[in-house]
Amino acid sequence: MVTSQNKYLAQRARLTTVTTVGHSLTGLSIAVLTLPKGRSLMWYLLVGHFFIFFANVPDFPLPGWGHASYEVSHSVFLTGLLASIMALLLLHPKFHEQVGAKVVLFWSITWLGHMVLDALYNHGQGIGIFWPFSDAHLILPVPWFETLTWPPFNEHNRRVFLIETGVYGIILAGCVWIRSRRKSENLGGVGP
Ligand SMILES: [Zn+2]
Repeated sequence: MVTSQNKYLAQRARLTTVTTVGHSLTGLSIAVLTLPKGRSLMWYLLVGHFFIFFANVPDFPLPGWGHASYEVSHSVFLTGLLASIMALLLLHPKFHEQVGAKVVLFWSITWLGHMVLDALYNHGQGIGIFWPFSDAHLILPVPWFETLTWPPFNEHNRRVFLIETGVYGIILAGCVWIRSRRKSENLGGVGP
């Protein structure tokens, strides 16, 4: 049975790393940089939203997952295994033709990138990403990235969201600018 104290600790644990804002904007940035040009709007919506999905998968609040089972959901080994299973979809000719291997590769990179972003926080504790083989932590603290506090609605958290939106928004804008300067080439190699 989950006590209110445990619930409180679980809620706090969810606040110790990058927010959904930072992860989603980074997923979009990778999509902007890597998706081929010349596809339909529906294709971009369908394929593109999975970049946001995979950017946030490790934090999904599911039983035995998310920040409640941090070492499992943020393990690069488990992520690699799940991404490999996802790649089996490419065996289906229609999926291979419509989506393609490069898109699946960048979905996987976006998924793995989540762990790198979570390691950027200035608490300096990093995150354990090597479960089940090691409890070593990836620690890449950036001074201006602070973690959220509990309860959520306060001035500190507003600043955290603003900084994340600003930093990752600028990165996304840069990716859009880079993409706009490219010729209408097929970056993904998944068809015309
Ligand atoms: Zn996370």
